[in-house]
Amino acid sequence: MSDSATPIFDGHNDTLLRLDMARRADKPISFLEGDKSLHIDYPKALEGALAGGLFAMFVPPPQKPGQPMDFSQMQKELDQAYALDLTLAMMAGAFRLARQSKAQVQICRSSLEIKMAMEDGAIALMLHIEGAEAIDADFNALEVLYAAGLRSLGPVWSRSNIFGHGVPFDFPGSPDCGPGLTDLGMELIRQCNQLGILVDLSHMNEQGFWDVHRITSKPLVATHSNVHALCPSRRNLTDDQLAAIAETEGLVGLNYAVGFLRKDGDKFNQDVSIDCMVDHIAYLLDFLGEDGVALGSDFDGATIPSAISNVAGNQALLAQMRARDFGEELIEKVAYKNWIGMLEKTGI
Ligand code: ZN
Repeated sequence: MSDSATPIFDGHNDTLLRLDMARRADKPISFLEGDKSLHIDYPKALEGALAGGLFAMFVPPPQKPGQPMDFSQMQKELDQAYALDLTLAMMAGAFRLARQSKAQVQICRSSLEIKMAMEDGAIALMLHIEGAEAIDADFNALEVLYAAGLRSLGPVWSRSNIFGHGVPFDFPGSPDCGPGLTDLGMELIRQCNQLGILVDLSHMNEQGFWDVHRITSKPLVATHSNVHALCPSRRNLTDDQLAAIAETEGLVGLNYAVGFLRKDGDKFNQDVSIDCMVDHIAYLLDFLGEDGVALGSDFDGATIPSAISNVAGNQALLAQMRARDFGEELIEKVAYKNWIGMLEKTGI
C-alpha cells in the first residue's frame, strides 16, 4: 500500500464464496498468493489500499462438483441444514485464511478490532451473512454464529426464506413487490438488535424495508445498493427509501455492479465510466449527508466496470472524487470512516 493511498473499508464482497467454490471443485485458489480469477486477493488488496470489509457468506443453490452454477435455480428456497453447512464451510475458510496469513488478515468482531487491524496494516475481515437461510426458527444457529464472529446479516437475499421475501433483479422495476418480513423475520431483527449484529437491507423488497424501519432500534443500512432514480433496478433504493435511511442517520454503500449503475440496467456491459459511479455517490450524499455514504463494491459477486476491474482499481474511484472537488475529508469518510462510524453506532 503506498503511503499516500486512502484506506478503504468495503461494505460487501463475495470473495469467501469464490474461495469456497474453488475448494469444493478441488481447484483451490490462494487468497494470500493471489489469483487472477479473484477481484479481491491479498496482493491486489495491498495495491488498492483495502483496509478491510464485510465479507459475505452467500449460499448458492446446490450444485454438482465441477458443474457451473445453475442461475435458473438461484431463486429457489434453500434447505436450512444445507445452508448452514455451506455457511460453516465459508466461515471455516475465513478462519483458515486468517490463521495462514500470520495476522495479515484478521477476523474482526468490533469496530475497535477493525481500527487495531488497520494500525497493524492487516486486512480487517468482518463476517456477514447474505440471506439468513442458515438460521433456524429457534435462532440457535444465530447465537452460535454470533459467538464465532458474525456481525452483519441480510435477512433475505433475492429469494424467499422463513424470514421474508427478497427483491428480484428485474430491470426496470420497483422494489415494491410482494410481502415483507414474516413474524419470524421481525423476531430476527429484534435478535440482531440485541446481539449487536448489523441488519443489511440491500436485498430486501420495499415492504420488508418498511417493516425493518418500523421495528429496528438501529440506523437503517443498505451495504451494497445504488440510486433508483439513476438506474431503475428493483435492487436500487427509491428517494422515499433514501429519505427514510437519512431520517435514521443510516448509511448506503455504493455497489459497483454495472447492472445497478447503468441507466439501461445492462448487467454485463462493463463500459461504465467512473464518473457514473461518482454520480451515484453524489446523489446519495445529497440525501444522506456526509456521514451516510460509503462503499459496498460487490467484488467477486458481480460484473464490475472495466475502469475499476478489481480491488486494485479502487483508488481510481477516489481519484475521480478528488477531481470533482469532494475534498479529502469527505473522501476519507466515504472510503472507510463512515463504515467504522456506522458499526460503532450499531453497537459493534
Ligand atoms: Zn448482494
